[in-house]
Amino acid sequence: MSNIVAIVGRPNVGKSTLYNRLTESRKAIVDDFSGVTRDRHYGVSEWTNHSFTVVDTGGYVANSDDVFEAAIREQVIIAIEEATVILFMVDVTTGITDLDDEIASLLRKSKKPVFVVVNKLDNTSLLADSMVFYSLGLGELYNISSMTGSGTGELLDDVVKHF
Ligand code: GDP
Ligand code: MG
Repeated sequence: MSNIVAIVGRPNVGKSTLYNRLTESRKAIVDDFSGVTRDRHYGVSEWTNHSFTVVDTGGYVANSDDVFEAAIREQVIIAIEEATVILFMVDVTTGITDLDDEIASLLRKSKKPVFVVVNKLDNTSLLADSMVFYSLGLGELYNISSMTGSGTGELLDDVVKHF
């Protein structure tokens, strides 16, 4: 049974950018599923001799706010069931939104390890803005920039400890 790292979070926080960085030049092992899981992408990654499957979620097709929230909720619930480790991605440039709060309350009930990944810290001037995410009640923060790759090594060092 391989280790699964699921990236969840609301749209535009940078989930796909991190997914692409982690799975770069590696073949997707399973592509778009049909039905309820159609918006999940699975790819292979490796870090310090640990290989694992990364799951990107999103691309929600929804025609109302309610459907939209339900789709995100569903992705989080699937991640809680199938993942070894969950990366909950938030965006330092926007702070905590209502959807972030909603996702956090689902994840606080999960028995799986959850890493709060604060994305878009492209430079250290944004570090002070990251602190607010401690109030999500999910513990330690991992400050990263999916765009530059900054912080992703420290994150993965701790993720692979759970394998
Ligand atoms: P997703 O909807 O969560 O999958 O988010 P995407 O990966 O599609 O990214 C949404 C937007 O945020 C895109 O315009 C990305 O280029 C941008 N983005 C992603 N990661 C970073 C980052 O580390 N820094 C900055 N400044 N922008 C980022
Ligand atoms: Mg995406």
